[in-house]
Amino acid sequence: KKEEWKKLVHQKTVTKDNQHVELAANIGNPDDLDGVLNNGGEGIGLYRTEFLYMGRDNFPTEDEQFEAYKKVLEKMEGKPVVIRTLDIGGDKELPYLDLPKELNPFLGFRAIRLCLERQDIFRTQLRALLRASVYGNLKIMFPMIATLDEFRQAKAILNEEREQLVQQGIEVSEQIEVGMMVEIPSTAVMADRFAKEVDFFSIGTNDLIQYTMAADRMNQHVSYLYQPYNPAILRLIHMVIQAAHKEGKWVGMCGEMAGDEIAIPILLGLGLDEFSMSATSILPARSQISKLSKEELAGHIDTILAMDTVDEVIAIVKAL
Ligand code: PEP
Ligand code: MG
Repeated sequence: KKEEWKKLVHQKTVTKDNQHVELAANIGNPDDLDGVLNNGGEGIGLYRTEFLYMGRDNFPTEDEQFEAYKKVLEKMEGKPVVIRTLDIGGDKELPYLDLPKELNPFLGFRAIRLCLERQDIFRTQLRALLRASVYGNLKIMFPMIATLDEFRQAKAILNEEREQLVQQGIEVSEQIEVGMMVEIPSTAVMADRFAKEVDFFSIGTNDLIQYTMAADRMNQHVSYLYQPYNPAILRLIHMVIQAAHKEGKWVGMCGEMAGDEIAIPILLGLGLDEFSMSATSILPARSQISKLSKEELAGHIDTILAMDTVDEVIAIVKAL
């Protein structure tokens, strides 16, 4: 198998019926890039920038961030790079940012909520991203969006920073796509509205499952409820992809589910455009996808979405 995977490093990901999907990688650090390229990543689907802020005792400066983003964009040589703005809070804390102690950190003051309140932090990051944008194919993604108002606010702030930089004579790419994570169920339900305003969605199943099933992703006592193949989750994903495609927008997935062997045939059939996963999952996924027919899988989607339980879904996929 290893030999077979090696041959796929420099190939595009195509299904048996000759449909291209993009296999991208999740990274937390520019140092992860060698692993991505050695494993044939076609892009970066999620750069978790919070790691730039962690393990230190002050905020990274605009220049430090600029250097990190530039490095990633240059190294990917024009391949798509989705950089997610700061997603701190929940399970990720910063020692130098005094956040209020909360009863439910996963439901609390984090990610875009914090960035819209602490605009000094947010704007610094956005300037670093905009300045780096000329070095590659940058796409900016906002985490933990719950409402259209939040997305509009975040995008307006981004545009303000862009105007400022341009006025100062600093070059900024004209091609930056601006998208959002779909990881809060409200955004999946309202995907038709969001789809008119975003350039792309990336489905964050790690959180989408947690919030849909009301099961803490870190709590072993309720891990039985953490069900990627639950028809409720599959229907939400279906809604998001349908809504996006209707508006001509692409949909990726950057949660763990994107690299899961059982999930991949379902996601292909649902029409997912980009799968972003840990670098080591890329070649096995490329090999699996090369043996699957997208059209054939699409024909099974109605049946899969009509199932009652996870076990029924798994049984169908295994019988394919
Ligand atoms: C997700 O929620 O699926 C996701 C990719 O983001 P994170 O795991 O960083 O919360
Ligand atoms: Mg998340």
